[in-house]
Amino acid sequence: MKRLLALAVLLVTGTLSIAVAAHQAPAAQPAGPRVIDIEKLKDNLYVLTSSSPADRATFSGGNVAVFITDSGVTLVDTKLAGWGQAILDKLKSVTDKPVTTIINTHTHGDHTGNDGFFGTSVEIVAHENTKTNMEKMDAFKGDNAKFLPKKTYRDKLTLGSGKDRIDLYYFGPGHTSGDTFVVFPALRVLHMGDMFAWKDAPLCDRNNGGSCVAFPQTLQRVIADIKNVDTIIPGHSPMQKPQDLQTYQRFTADLLSHATSAMKAGQTVDDATASFKVDKYPGYKNERVKAAIQAVYDELKK
Ligand SMILES: [Zn+2]
Repeated sequence: MKRLLALAVLLVTGTLSIAVAAHQAPAAQPAGPRVIDIEKLKDNLYVLTSSSPADRATFSGGNVAVFITDSGVTLVDTKLAGWGQAILDKLKSVTDKPVTTIINTHTHGDHTGNDGFFGTSVEIVAHENTKTNMEKMDAFKGDNAKFLPKKTYRDKLTLGSGKDRIDLYYFGPGHTSGDTFVVFPALRVLHMGDMFAWKDAPLCDRNNGGSCVAFPQTLQRVIADIKNVDTIIPGHSPMQKPQDLQTYQRFTADLLSHATSAMKAGQTVDDATASFKVDKYPGYKNERVKAAIQAVYDELKK
C-alpha cells in the first residue's frame, strides 16, 4: 500500500513537472546558438517570435511585441531567462532607442525571464494578480525583487498617448489569475499572451489562479470589449486575425461544456478526452486537450 502510494506520488509529481517544464523556465539553458526571429508588423511594431515549447534546444519563450515610441521601446513579455542578449541584438537591428517599459502579460518564466536584464530604470507593468504570482517565483526573490512590476492595475490601464498609446485590459481568470490583454490602438494590434497561445486546448495554471472553467467567458469579454483590432499576437504561435479569436473562444467553450457533461455522466478524463473531436476546428491539435479536461474536472470537484 505504502509502495503504491509512493508510486502514485511519483507519477503525479512526474506529470506535474512535465507540464510545468513544457511551459516555464527550463532547468538548464539550451546549448545551441541563441537566435530569435523578428517579424515586422508595422513601422514601429515588431514581434520577436516564438519557437515550439516542445523543442527545448530552440525554445526562447513567448512572442515578444516590440513597440517603438517617441520616448523609447516598450516590450510586451521578455522570453526565457538567458535570452536577454539575443533579444537586445534583435532590437538593435530595428532601433537605437533604449527599452523603457516592459509589460508582462502574465507570471510565467517564458514571458518574464529577462525582466531584470534591461536594468532597474525600466518601468515594469503587470496586472496586480500577476505581481502577486511573480512574488512567489524564485527568479524574483531576494535582490531580484527589485525587478518586480512597479506599476500595477486592476481593470484597465492606459500608457502613453496618441500614436504611442497602449491600453492594458483585465477580464478575469484564464491561463492564470492575472492575464493582461495589450492593445496598440493606433496600430489595431492586440497581444493576447497565453490567453491565445496556440490552436490547441489552453493551459490553465491552477497554481497561479488559472481557470479552464472561466476561460471561455474571459475570452468572450475580450471579444465584446476590444474592437478595432486587425491583428492578434498570440503567446506562442503565428499572428492571427479577430475571426481566429472567435473560433478559439468557441473551441474553449465547446471543450468546457464537453468536459462538464462528461463529468456529470460519470466518465473518466480519458473517456472525455477520447470523445472530444477537434476536427471541426481546422488546424487545431489535441495535444493539450487531456490536461485541460483534467483541469475542468479538478476545478468542478471543489
Ligand atoms: Zn504562460
